[in-house]
Amino acid sequence: MADRTSIEWSDMTWNPIAGCTRVSEGCRHCYAERLAARGLPGFEGLARWVDWPDGTRAPRWTGVVLIREHLMDLPLRKKRPRRIFVNSMSDLFHDAVPDEVIDRIFAVMALAPRHTFQILTKRPERMRDYLSTRAGDWMLRWPEAIPAGKWYVSRHEGMSRLGANGPVAAALYDAQPITYPLPNVWMGTSVENQRSANERRTHIEAVAAAGWNTFASYEPALGYVAWEGWEFLKWLISGGESGPRARPTHPAWHRVARDFSAAHGIPYLFKQWGEWGKAKGAHSGTPGKYAIASAGPHSEFWPQSVIEVDFYPRQINLFGGATVRERIGKRAAGRLLDGVEHNGMPGG
Ligand code: SF4
Repeated sequence: MADRTSIEWSDMTWNPIAGCTRVSEGCRHCYAERLAARGLPGFEGLARWVDWPDGTRAPRWTGVVLIREHLMDLPLRKKRPRRIFVNSMSDLFHDAVPDEVIDRIFAVMALAPRHTFQILTKRPERMRDYLSTRAGDWMLRWPEAIPAGKWYVSRHEGMSRLGANGPVAAALYDAQPITYPLPNVWMGTSVENQRSANERRTHIEAVAAAGWNTFASYEPALGYVAWEGWEFLKWLISGGESGPRARPTHPAWHRVARDFSAAHGIPYLFKQWGEWGKAKGAHSGTPGKYAIASAGPHSEFWPQSVIEVDFYPRQINLFGGATVRERIGKRAAGRLLDGVEHNGMPGG
């Protein structure tokens, strides 16, 4: 559990759940899965290494998902307001996470209005179901059901009145008037290509229509996305992939996301290029790892159409207007898009 994070759009991560399973292309190089397979404390046994016939090894979640009781009330112990990324190493709406556990996480978020919570899922269909049924029923009754006074969060029973039942958790809090949907909770979905955008849009749109603040994280951007229909968003993040096997991302995809955001007054944050950046003034024959796109940036096949070569091609013109990216490393690639750092944040 990291109290601080290098994620540009968050101050800290809160991981009361550990473990996951892959759901789409964006999971292919899952950072959490790799760390878990390496034996990250608290994640032991949740992922293992699989040997492939070509001699390579890759991490795979085992499918076990853990509830980390000792971290359940962590935000309540943080007094200074923070932006908290919930379950950066898992997915809150994974099938294996019981509704009762999600209830308790929502109770903690409701009791800590000083913090802003960011929930990002690749399973917005369950997010939508949960918010429209269980959380709705349960939390809508709070204003009448909860008189002002002292409250605590039980590790076993979610929010309870002081002294009512269960062990008293770490701290006591004055009950706040609770607004529902919770204004300090941001509900987001990941999008990596047009296919995932098509599958997820209606679910997150329904969440927005129910009054929640919603956002999308287009990271890793692995294909072109047409953003028409996403005007309800209150925040859009885009970025490329990092890590040992990172795939290149096309600059045009991020420009489209940036321009869509600007046209609709949506704060836009460009997180990073990832491992692949602008080819650094490469000259014919220069050694390096290059990605050459032979398909147009709007092609859903673009990075599949990428040819990776070890030398800057002598006959680049053969590719006619091709986009060339070079594997220069995340740090060198940086986070400027057309020379500008985009740090848009809601309310910022
Ligand atoms: S949903 Fe997130 S945590 Fe789960 S496998 Fe995919 S990338 Fe990893």
